Amino acid sequence: MYFPNFLFRSLIGENEISFLVNLLGLEAVIDLLPYARKIYLMMRAEKLKGDPVNQEKVTRSLKVQIIESAEIEEISGNQSVTGLRYKEKKTGKIKELAVSGVFIQIGLIPNSEFIRPMIDTNEAGEIVVDHAIGKTSKIGIFGAGDVTNDPFKQNNIAAGDGIRAALSAYDYILNIKKYSPCAEKGE
Ligand SMILES: Cc1cc2nc3c(=O)[nH]c(=O)nc-3n(C[C@H](O)[C@H](O)[C@H](O)COP(=O)(O)OP(=O)(O)OC[C@H]3O[C@@H](n4cnc5c(N)ncnc54)[C@H](O)[C@@H]3O)c2cc1C
Repeated sequence: MYFPNFLFRSLIGENEISFLVNLLGLEAVIDLLPYARKIYLMMRAEKLKGDPVNQEKVTRSLKVQIIESAEIEEISGNQSVTGLRYKEKKTGKIKELAVSGVFIQIGLIPNSEFIRPMIDTNEAGEIVVDHAIGKTSKIGIFGAGDVTNDPFKQNNIAAGDGIRAALSAYDYILNIKKYSPCAEKGE
C-alpha cells in the first residue's frame, strides 16, 4: 500500500476522494474502501482496465463511483484539497466534484533502457531476476528493487533486494574464477 497511515486516519469516515487511476489504482481504491465515505475512480480511458478480481471488488462497492473518459483540468483548495474540475472527453463538458483528497496512481515505467540490450527484460521493461539471489540473465549483473520484475514495489522489499543483490555480487567477485569464460574452458 502506497499511502501512509496518517493519511488514512485523516480520511476516515467523512471524506470523498478522487483517483486518477490505472491498474495499481484499483488496489489503492480497495485499500481505501474501509476508510472513505465515497471514492470517485476517475480515468482517461473509456473503460476500466486491470485485474478482473480487483475490478469486481471495486465495481461491486456502493462507495465507488467510476468516471471514465475524464481529463482532470484542475485540483482546487487552499490549505487542503476541496475540489476537482474535469472534462468529460466524450461531450467536452466541464464538471466539478467536491472532494477532500486526490490520489494519482498512473503507473510505473522502469528506467531500464540503458541495460536492455544486455539483459532480459519482460514486456513491461522490468529486469527479469532470479528472486533467490537477484541474478539477471547476464553473469555478473544483479538487479534489485522496483526496476525488477518483483510484483511488489515497496521500500522494504527494494532495500532487501538491494542487500541480496549486493551479497550475490560479493559472492560473484569472490568466486570470479568459477564464473570466468576461461574457467569453462579449463584454462
Ligand atoms: C508516490 C509514491 C509513494 C510511495 N509510497 C510508499 C510507501 O508508503 N511505502 C513503501 O514501502 N513504498 C512506497 N513507494 C514505493 C517505493 O518508493 C519504492 O518501492 C522504492 O523507492 C523503490 O526503491 P528502488 O531503490 O528500487 O528505486 P528508486 O527509489 O526509484 O531509486 C532508483 C534510483 O536510481 C536512480 N536512477 C535511475 N536511473 C538511473 C541511471 N540510468 N543512472 C543512475 N541512476 C539512476 C534514480 O534517480 C533513483 O535515485 C511509493 C512510491 C511512490 C512513487
